Amino acid sequence: MKKCPYCGFENQEPTPRCPECGGYYSKIIELIDQAAAEEEKNSGAARYRRIIQSGNIKQAIISEIRQIVDGLSGQAKLTLWVVFVFVFALVFAF
Ligand SMILES: [Zn+2]
Repeated sequence: MKKCPYCGFENQEPTPRCPECGGYYSKIIELIDQAAAEEEKNSGAARYRRIIQSGNIKQAIISEIRQIVDGLSGQAKLTLWVVFVFVFALVFAF
């Protein structure tokens, strides 16, 4: 039985979090959970869901793209830019 360090709730279940206040019993579990949540947030399905659920789909798509671009390294941005210019040239050059 674990006692929550935040609210003092005595938990009978072997869960990593307090069912009362949602506090974590272990710092490591908290970090792992946060990493998993971050991963889930950045997954394609989650992005799609956020775009669909938002009232303004166009705005949501722009904001998601901005997030993706912000997450890229300089090298990746350059590659993306070159690919974009190349496709643009192919479409409009002929
Ligand atoms: Zn608690």
